[in-house]
Amino acid sequence: MLKWIVRIGLALCAIALVGMVSTYVFIDRELNRMYGAFVKVAEPDLPPPGPDAYALVDVNVLSPEGDAFVPGQAVVVDAGLIRSVMPADSVPAGLETVDGQGRYLIPGLTDSHIHLWQSENDLLVYVANGVTQVRDMNTVPVNLRWRAEIEDGRIGPDIFAVAPQFATFGPMEGAFVGWTQRKTIVRTDDQVHDAVKDFAAKGYDALKSSSYLDKAGYEAMSEATRAQGIKLVGHLPIAVGLNDLWASNQSEVAHVEEFVKALDREFGGYGPDEAEAFLEYVRERSDEVAGRMIEHGISVTSTMELVDSFQRQKLDLHTELDAAELAYENPGIAEGTVITSRGMGWMPEVNIYRWPDQWDDDRKARSRIYWQAYAEAQHILFDTFREAGVPIMAGTDANVPVRVPGFSLHEEFLALQEAGMSPAQILASATSVPSDYMGTNAGRIQAGREADLVLLRDNPLEDIAATQEIDMVVLDGRRLDRAALDGLLESVKAANDESRKVPLEQF
Ligand SMILES: [Zn+2]
Repeated sequence: MLKWIVRIGLALCAIALVGMVSTYVFIDRELNRMYGAFVKVAEPDLPPPGPDAYALVDVNVLSPEGDAFVPGQAVVVDAGLIRSVMPADSVPAGLETVDGQGRYLIPGLTDSHIHLWQSENDLLVYVANGVTQVRDMNTVPVNLRWRAEIEDGRIGPDIFAVAPQFATFGPMEGAFVGWTQRKTIVRTDDQVHDAVKDFAAKGYDALKSSSYLDKAGYEAMSEATRAQGIKLVGHLPIAVGLNDLWASNQSEVAHVEEFVKALDREFGGYGPDEAEAFLEYVRERSDEVAGRMIEHGISVTSTMELVDSFQRQKLDLHTELDAAELAYENPGIAEGTVITSRGMGWMPEVNIYRWPDQWDDDRKARSRIYWQAYAEAQHILFDTFREAGVPIMAGTDANVPVRVPGFSLHEEFLALQEAGMSPAQILASATSVPSDYMGTNAGRIQAGREADLVLLRDNPLEDIAATQEIDMVVLDGRRLDRAALDGLLESVKAANDESRKVPLEQF
């Protein structure tokens, strides 16, 4: 009798174990699908790389100060570097020349806030849009492999790798959040110190605090990153205030929006009825905040268009999806998953910004007032930062709905222009400013720097929209003309189309 009870008990345990393992395998597969691991990899037909040494002649070159174009120039490229910049008529004889046709040469562009996740096709979409450097704000292991391959000549932007963001959660929730959202879960100071050391040893370039890091964790991160000499970037955790930021090792805040949230916490949390009072509070506080940013050498990344789009995604998601270059978006991300829609999922059923269906008109009207004030607060802070001279880096949060890699940087430029930045300031925010921040050897057209360049048809200092008319991208010296860039885009579209479950015709 006892023998049978034991046997039945063991059988039930085995069934439960098999159930747990298969649930784990199923969910893990679903997560990888959502992050894009199974998206067909695009196979573009690339022209053979030309000779290592050549001169790009008859171009207007953006000056290192970024405020003017010098006409009639030649840029001599050799082995992936800019060797010299000189008048076009003094190019040494015998060097292969490429005719720049009097067009406008700017440094390759940087998007300072993106999420690569797991579809390799994003790399090509960035390059096709003139983005030769990205700061990946949640780098997962496969991205480190891509970074190494790109350094070896694979087509893709250089990657500044920020480790999976640090967050504090209890054991059960922490295990789930860490797994599904690819975050670094920490609960003790020792765990923070160990994780920081570990990521630094693995070659990550910076570490990121998330909104969900507790105060002790934030202070430990600040101490540990200081000790390791590695940058601390990212969100300002909900558990801390601006005074904690000023006292920390954090040198970059990943969104202007973070300051809206911090000031809202100081204010005590505004609702639609307090929207005007909150904006008044933001106006009163913004000068002091900007002053402290400069005093402590803290940069901010813009992501203006993302926050401006919250309201539009709530009000009319269909139009927003319609306007986005969805064909080039990682289909896994766009389609999302029901397992974790946090931050992922663009389509109406999974979009995190949409209004819940059960909301009535009154609730929606109040929500609209709230989000309008939220966007306005962002603009007040942005204006103050810009006028005070806080270093601003252009960033999009690409792969967050509905920011398509590469394309979204040009949309961000238009938003920055609309918000009062001059074209020269916008170009700097995507070239010299992020290059100086990340310590890369790019970002300016100067001898000795990496030959990451973009040739434009029109003058972007007159209208920043000119950055969308790309004639050629030079990636570590390798030239990709317009036909090659179109080839990259076509190959990505075809591969993504084969991988999507939700057809795009409806948008
Ligand atoms: Zn982000």
